[in-house]
Amino acid sequence: MTYDVQKTDDRDTREATLPRVFLREPGWHISQRVGSEKTFCYQMAPGEEFYHRLLDGEVIVSRGEEKLCLPCAERRGLLTFLPKPLRDQLAGVDIEVTERLGEYEVKG
Ligand SMILES: [Zn+2]
Repeated sequence: MTYDVQKTDDRDTREATLPRVFLREPGWHISQRVGSEKTFCYQMAPGEEFYHRLLDGEVIVSRGEEKLCLPCAERRGLLTFLPKPLRDQLAGVDIEVTERLGEYEVKG
């Protein structure tokens, strides 16, 4: 996903170009890559045949040793841009319950 972010000094305009991002996958965390030690994204970007480097200051999504840049995390489906509804909407699911009488073989 690409964002058409224009360089501008108008702070209100700049903030409006970035979407709100939500991470709800259990075990995954948002963190910041700090330092110059070589760390690579765990996923290749489309069209690339190498693991790209995560850079100092970059916001990343991680779970244990697995680290992903935001675009790769989004491609993997870890990030969403829609807030959770205030109430979880329950889908109309018909649950068919069949009453079965158990037959047990009694061995004597
Ligand atoms: Zn990546």
